[in-house]
Amino acid sequence: MIKIAVANGDGIGPEIMEAVLTIFKAADVPLSYEYVDMGKWVFDKGFSNGMTDEAKATIEALGILFKGPMETPKGKGVKSINVTARKTWNTYANKRTFQTLHGVDTVFSKAGIPIDLTIVRENIEDTYGGVEHMLSNDVAISRRFITRPGSEQVIRYAFEMAREKKAKKITCGHKANIMKLTDGIFLNTFYEIAKQYPELEANDIIVDDLCMKLVMRPGMFDVIVLTNLQGDIVSDLCAGLVGGLGFAPSANIGDNICIFEAVHGTAPDIAGKNIANPTALLLSGLAMLQHLGLYGKAALIENALLYTLEQGNHTGDFGDKSIPALNTTQFADAIIANF
Ligand code: NAD
Repeated sequence: MIKIAVANGDGIGPEIMEAVLTIFKAADVPLSYEYVDMGKWVFDKGFSNGMTDEAKATIEALGILFKGPMETPKGKGVKSINVTARKTWNTYANKRTFQTLHGVDTVFSKAGIPIDLTIVRENIEDTYGGVEHMLSNDVAISRRFITRPGSEQVIRYAFEMAREKKAKKITCGHKANIMKLTDGIFLNTFYEIAKQYPELEANDIIVDDLCMKLVMRPGMFDVIVLTNLQGDIVSDLCAGLVGGLGFAPSANIGDNICIFEAVHGTAPDIAGKNIANPTALLLSGLAMLQHLGLYGKAALIENALLYTLEQGNHTGDFGDKSIPALNTTQFADAIIANF
């Protein structure tokens, strides 16, 4: 048994987490869970970083956190729990994979164009330091930090991952034509590291051109590495290519701690109704099983998920509206029935 930390999260978090862990249990996945106190409700109890000291210690001891989405309380001076977690544990690479799923109709699937993209987003630097101030009543300034060591660690990860998945090509998205120093460091570092991976075709593209080409010809790309904010925006664009946020998993990779979570948020509009789509969290969970070397279990569940989608099963947020939608629990049960 491998022990991992689990945080249910807020909003739809507990519902989709229960669905995913029920699927894991039915598949006899050899994991045990230590639930940790983390989320908006922990903020509300007075913990300013959204987690208790015990939660932090448990996550650091176990090294893996599987988490549901978490709400950041609104208001000045409150930092996002998600951003805090990524910074606290230096999870410097955010890996998001986007693949065509049969049964999830998109303009590309209808045209028979398969999608298989991996975005690696720098996860710590850029404008996410939140270093902003007012210069006058009408002028606000935000500082953008890009460092060579920070760029190196995420770009190195992207190349290693591309080598492991036997990708042919790796692309750096950037805006170095305008932000010559900050994006310049990122781009130069990319080409420095590329020299050590001669088997991979390395190229670069300006981020706005990248967005247009992703929408017109997604097959041009394989692995794409970007700075934090640009990576955030481009990965939501890619989620749209494969059917939306309900199908977008993510892994926050650090040297000591990795966090696996869905890209989407707490969906407050549908929370508590047991109608959320658990697929993105399940796909994040499958990436976690692969990370832990549990390839057989990951393949068993993935095949069942793909077959379940192909059968036309769907939750209310996608799929053929002429087939009645399943609720979260029924959708999980349909996957289990296909093991
Ligand atoms: P959201 O992703 O929660 O919701 C956007 C839309 O997508 C909503 O209509 C929602 O119902 C729908 N949706 C999202 N996930 C779904 C699912 N699994 N099944 C079906 N429909 C789904 O984005 P938001 O409304 O901008 O954010 C709500 C809260 O989530 C905010 O507090 C935000 O800070 C937080 N958030 C957390 C994370 C995270 O924990 N990693 C990520 C993004 C947003």
